[in-house]
Amino acid sequence: MADSYERPLILISNDDGIEAAGILSLAAALDAVGDVIIAAPLQEMSAVGHAITMRDPVRARPWPFRGPSGQLTAYAVSGTPADCVKLALDKLVPRQPDLVVSGINHGPNTAVNVIYSGTVSAATEAAILGIPAIAFSYCRWGSGDFEASGRVAQQVVQQVLDNAFPPGILLNVNIPDIPYEQLKGFMITRQAQARWEEQFSERLDPFDRPYYWLSGTFVNMDEGTNTDLWAVDNGWVSITPVQHDLTAYRAMESLQQWSWRRLSGE
Ligand code: MN
Repeated sequence: MADSYERPLILISNDDGIEAAGILSLAAALDAVGDVIIAAPLQEMSAVGHAITMRDPVRARPWPFRGPSGQLTAYAVSGTPADCVKLALDKLVPRQPDLVVSGINHGPNTAVNVIYSGTVSAATEAAILGIPAIAFSYCRWGSGDFEASGRVAQQVVQQVLDNAFPPGILLNVNIPDIPYEQLKGFMITRQAQARWEEQFSERLDPFDRPYYWLSGTFVNMDEGTNTDLWAVDNGWVSITPVQHDLTAYRAMESLQQWSWRRLSGE
């Protein structure tokens, strides 16, 4: 086997855009672990969920991106995080990556936010295709010290490369906003039962027409001590296995008891 194949190939994306501090620190941390290729949105795409672009062309522009080992292969994509991973896997990578990694997101992706997250969706796109995938989020909005979360990401990636990865899932990793030395360790968690209590601010535009701006508050209704929210609130790196099969299996049996009528025949 050729030497170049001994290093894992790692595809990196995000939803904060290719110029975000988080993806820079992720690429820097993983440059040492494998061969890195980056395909990330040209513009910020936070909270676009799993949106894909169907009615416009998608363009991928080579992008100057420096890592510790020098210039990395990188593309700025005129689309969503899911577009980036779909396009990269079909057209931009030299071979199928061993791992797809998304982030490091600026802000947490815990509880129900997984469903809105572009960061998680980039990883989901890889999981759908059976490629091991990880989404990383740093629980602090805006800027911050991504050095600690980069070190954490490197350790999680090494774990994934060293172990048998369950097919069809991704790991959703949330890293608390505390110094590296104060992190307690890693905790396998579930999504907390929490939700946004939606509240739209209403204002008037210059023509006296009302407009609305989303500004909800996040409410945790879950008292469990094994949730993603509990973990990051208590100094643990939260690792939640996530799957894209949204079937509510627990509801199937009771639904089958309903008196469903045959539509054809008699
Ligand atoms: Mn984001």
